[in-house]
Amino acid sequence: DPALLAQAAGAAAPADLDAYWMPFTANRQFKQAPRLLARADGMHYWTPEGRQVLDGVAGLWCVNAGHARPKIVRAIAEQAAEMDFAPPFNMGHPKAFELAEKLVQITPAGLDKVFYTNSGSEAVETALKMAIGYHRARGEGTRTRLIGRERGYHGVNFGGVSVGGIAGNRKTFGPLLGGVDHLRHTHDLARNRHVRGVPEHGAELADDLERIVALHDASTIAAVIVEPVAGSTGVLLPPKGYLERLRAICDKHGILLIFDEVITGFGRLGAPFAADYFGVTPDLMTVAKGITNGSVPMGAVFAKSFIHDAFMNGPEHLIEFPHGYTYSAHPLACAAALGTLETYADDGLLTRGADMARPFEDALHALEGLPHVLDVRNIGLVGAIELEPIPGQPAKRAFDVFLECWRRGVLVRVTGDIIALSPPLIVETSHIEQIAGTIGEVLKAQA
Ligand code: PLP
Repeated sequence: DPALLAQAAGAAAPADLDAYWMPFTANRQFKQAPRLLARADGMHYWTPEGRQVLDGVAGLWCVNAGHARPKIVRAIAEQAAEMDFAPPFNMGHPKAFELAEKLVQITPAGLDKVFYTNSGSEAVETALKMAIGYHRARGEGTRTRLIGRERGYHGVNFGGVSVGGIAGNRKTFGPLLGGVDHLRHTHDLARNRHVRGVPEHGAELADDLERIVALHDASTIAAVIVEPVAGSTGVLLPPKGYLERLRAICDKHGILLIFDEVITGFGRLGAPFAADYFGVTPDLMTVAKGITNGSVPMGAVFAKSFIHDAFMNGPEHLIEFPHGYTYSAHPLACAAALGTLETYADDGLLTRGADMARPFEDALHALEGLPHVLDVRNIGLVGAIELEPIPGQPAKRAFDVFLECWRRGVLVRVTGDIIALSPPLIVETSHIEQIAGTIGEVLKAQA
């Protein structure tokens, strides 16, 4: 009964918003006019008052199979009753191993080892440490330098922020890690505008890595980390041939290539991973979000066997890689991930994005001529609409669009003056029309 549900949800609305210091949120603005979510199912959220909101962003790029999927809900509930926690250090539980075997069956060939974390940020730290430790383990301990990219987002821990390329996330927190350098980003609206899929121009930007090698020498460089498609800074696509070129330069100089697939993993581009989509396999790959369909925190690093094997030396009773988290391979997360993989397989979701990419692309590109639209771009089931900033008020125009879409019943995400879209992979054409249609109306109304 919708009325009863709305009543129940309404009862959950908090009386006081004061104590909760919210993450990546304009806390003061939020608390003046809170936007609360109380329930979710399939493609939708409901507010405590029972208002329905279409989820245009899969929660936060993570609920790929849609909300409240029965196999995932059941797996979590049953696991909570059976065994709440098991220590992950020098102990194990069956589902952690079962999940690892299932995961490596769907990851790109060669990425055969899984290390569990609890978030994307932790996956990134883990991958960076693996890269440095790998070189040391095989006797090249001078390779400690890490190369990131401008406008990259790799979570919020010190390693991730250091290789990340977002000034707003970096400037507050001191000198960060030493021994880090950055490639230029690939976003170039002068040459690539309103592009459907990957842009034509910019593969040569990968040659920045050669310049960095010439400056620091390859013998000091451990790894390069990039998002195959940069999500958080506004859906920046790799130019045609760019990732291949990066791979080739890494190979030439013995540098490990890390793909951060926290957003692109688990079907977002219409292939299981971006590595599959682009036909470029990294040495290490970080994931999170979609691994449990967002239901229980979990991240992971996939490593090629040669990296894992380099650590497997010394006395057998000693720990080979001094790293891990209390909640690595948490039983609830493993159960949730197993339920998630089953759900993805049942519905063919790891490739469904390929079928829905075209209607999604058409709907977004229909917004090209609207007021203040600088660019529309898309790949798989990720899209972005970049707006012209209001002079002197960066990020205000997009934030206003976000607020008005929310008021009209569609959840979108904004980053700077870019609207980012990443609907659950169960999205239907009618949802796509509602998302794009609402954005179009709001852009016209706010012109
Ligand atoms: N890496 C990428 C590419 C991401 O998009 C994100 C989050 O959006 C992260 C890392 C951080 O993940 P988490 O927020 O789970 O720590």
